[in-house]
Amino acid sequence: MTNEDLANVIFPNVSSDTSIYEKKYPERNLKEGAIVTRFAPSPTGFVHMGSLRTAFVSQFVSKNSGGVFYLRIEDTDGKRSIENGIEGIIKDLNDFDITIDEGALSETKSIGNYGPYIQSERKSIYQAYAKKLIEEGLAYPCFCTEEEIDSIREKQEHKKTRIGYYGAWTKCRDLSNEERIERIKNGEKYIIRLKSPGNFERKVVLNDLVRGKIEMPENDLDVVLIKSDGLPLYHFAHVIDDHLMRTTHVLRGDEWISSYPIHTQLFKLLRFEEPKYGHLGVVMKVDETGARRKLSKRKDPEAAVSYYHEKGIPIDAVKLYLLTIANSNFESWLSSNPDKSYNEFKFDFKKMSESGSLFDVEKLLNISKNYISKLTAEEVYANLEKFTAIYDKDFNKLIKNYKDYTTNILNIERVQKKPRKDYASYSDIKNHIWYMYDELFKPDKEDYDFQNIKDFNEINKILNLYLNKYYDFNDDKDTWFNKIKDMCDELGYASNMKDYKENPSNYKGNITDITTVIRVSLTTKAMTPDLYEIMKLLGPEKVSERFLIFNVD
Ligand code: GLU
Repeated sequence: MTNEDLANVIFPNVSSDTSIYEKKYPERNLKEGAIVTRFAPSPTGFVHMGSLRTAFVSQFVSKNSGGVFYLRIEDTDGKRSIENGIEGIIKDLNDFDITIDEGALSETKSIGNYGPYIQSERKSIYQAYAKKLIEEGLAYPCFCTEEEIDSIREKQEHKKTRIGYYGAWTKCRDLSNEERIERIKNGEKYIIRLKSPGNFERKVVLNDLVRGKIEMPENDLDVVLIKSDGLPLYHFAHVIDDHLMRTTHVLRGDEWISSYPIHTQLFKLLRFEEPKYGHLGVVMKVDETGARRKLSKRKDPEAAVSYYHEKGIPIDAVKLYLLTIANSNFESWLSSNPDKSYNEFKFDFKKMSESGSLFDVEKLLNISKNYISKLTAEEVYANLEKFTAIYDKDFNKLIKNYKDYTTNILNIERVQKKPRKDYASYSDIKNHIWYMYDELFKPDKEDYDFQNIKDFNEINKILNLYLNKYYDFNDDKDTWFNKIKDMCDELGYASNMKDYKENPSNYKGNITDITTVIRVSLTTKAMTPDLYEIMKLLGPEKVSERFLIFNVD
């Protein structure tokens, strides 16, 4: 019995003429240097920040090179796939504006000519190549049960030898085709394994885009190509898909480095050209104890991509941060090119960290503060409106009722050389400006953070005098400030800090104590943006109402 006979018994309805696929998915007609790459997640739940980094970097380099970025769903391991996993991935990518040129758009829709882009829909393609390998004597059915595989492992452990299905340990490698066919016909369960021609004593070299040359032993494992359910495992699926989808660059997590010998062997046996590989280090964090560890789906809320959407951290700020941790020279490029779009940055794989990037939310929030500070008030308003429409409907209603007023609030200390950097996220903004709205301004007496002046008689005295004698809504900023100074003089507070520092005992306090009383009575807070601007926006009615609240006592 020949290998063809065996192949026909295993895949009676599949043609091993793979040339139809070669024709159906031709070389892409792209300009020299164009990068075709992909994001290839398994639908195992939410997208992890580490995967988002990989997806973003992949999209970034392909876009910059005039190439193609596509999404492939790797769902051949049914145990790891979860319900709505695909939709979840697509939503996370959309939320981050990581748009694809090709690939799955939903469970049922896709774009592009190189599909299907969901692996479970590509069964016949994998089987055609598997059939071809069987015909060529490079793959075979393996009937070993789980117990037999366990017992091989136990023996190997006992002998302290390398674990795996290779060489003399391969029970099914040298069965005759007669026996194989008979066992299949008898209904025995089997999988398809590679008949690896490799020699563990020889070396293969991976020229990694990030890490340079890595030497590893050749693969001699008869790895599983097709499982008993007829679907492939990652190694086989990845090689076929990346070939037929004409991928030029594979960017993936560094947990796959050790599988490279299998992949390069498969590319050779299938006579496919091998793509370039870049293995990206894991995303780490420093935990509470100061130790470095992998950013964990389970322990760290910031590991989930949805976290940034829910917090209202601008997508572009996250992307700036991802580039900061991806390329060690990005930060300095950005500071020398503050007005350029990050899209103009020339990404360099060699500038990626080999040992894994450190993820630091504080740093991300600083980048975000800086980013938001450079937007116009109208842009901030529009983003705040979008964010609150989903996550804070009451506040959304309020800001829409007072659209111009809100925009003006957001504009305080914005149009200046060094704009204020209060807001790290859109969820942060309400905490900074709530006191500007009467609807939200309902403080108790204890909420007021009067600093040095604690005596309510004194507070009332200052506010009443200010309201009745000095406050005029129409004053310009200089006049407004000079009047506060005049009031200081009248009340025995130093209007000049230098004088105060020289002779503090000559005064009841200084001008800061007075402005603090005014500021706190209007906002409850001792620290706010520019007081003059706040008073201008609140207007005379709100100002006097808030001053007079202490007169009740
Ligand atoms: N499905 C694989 C994973 O989630 C993808 C690896 C690759 O990008 O090739 O790790």
